[in-house]
Amino acid sequence: MKLSGLHFLLTYQCVRECDHCFTWGSPRQTGKMTLDDIHTYLEQARDTRTITSVCFEGGEPFLLYATLLQAVNVAASMGFEVGIVTNAYWATSQKRALSKLKPLAGLLESITLSSDLFHSDQMGSQQVGYAIEAANTLGISTGTISIAQPEVPGVRAAVGQIPDGGSKVMFRGRAAENLASRVPSYPWENYTRCPHEDLVEPGRVHLDPLGNLHICQGIVIGNLKQAPLKAWCEQYIPEAHPIVGPLLEAGPAGLVKRYGLDHRDGYVDACHLCYSMRLALRGRFPEALAPDQMYGV
Ligand code: SF4
Repeated sequence: MKLSGLHFLLTYQCVRECDHCFTWGSPRQTGKMTLDDIHTYLEQARDTRTITSVCFEGGEPFLLYATLLQAVNVAASMGFEVGIVTNAYWATSQKRALSKLKPLAGLLESITLSSDLFHSDQMGSQQVGYAIEAANTLGISTGTISIAQPEVPGVRAAVGQIPDGGSKVMFRGRAAENLASRVPSYPWENYTRCPHEDLVEPGRVHLDPLGNLHICQGIVIGNLKQAPLKAWCEQYIPEAHPIVGPLLEAGPAGLVKRYGLDHRDGYVDACHLCYSMRLALRGRFPEALAPDQMYGV
């Protein structure tokens, strides 16, 4: 597995508790990455010789503002292209947005802002506006992630990384529990491939505060507290992984078949079936389906 990007989930904590959030972000969540760990992981990322970009996200990374500043500094000084994903809760005025982003100028390549009706009562909240204005002033490029309400027709689905602009809800994590009832479901046998992630050569993976390496949120392919990132990249055999293997063979329906799982007749999308089956398999594969935070426990 040759990675080009590593996404740091600095914390599972968030100021909000959005219905579509697949990492179950919430003010009550636990788990924060320490600065020591960030240093170690950045060195491990450099040792892969293939990773060129890192992104700090969460949860809400600005909740750990002092850590975030240091992390961006260190990553930039090591030559990584650095990005942040945030909901801009901290940009409560023009002045405040500028003061928060100023120390990142010249270090941060891009800032991506969550801007949709899950995060605010209106599209393009005032905070997002202030953050974009401040970033523009400081020469930091900006993007937005906007997830459409489940009932909105014709929205494209995200493939791999959630793209800039609008995309569909993926019904995993809290979205599976809170939003699936709002849209029609389809026969479970339809879901014979993972439509979003490249599970063989993912390009980028997510790293959480517990050291877990996620190929998709909640599907763990290694832990950096046990072995360095390079080793996990070298020894990754997708077909041998207890969850990735069946997903490659026959998509989320492959999980049902491989493990003979009880299931409903219909699910709203592939992620809904995948997430529901993973919940049922957690007791059997606790290391591969972790941590509790990703499953709303
Ligand atoms: S189908 Fe499963 S592995 Fe693929 S994106 Fe959805 S939840 Fe992730």
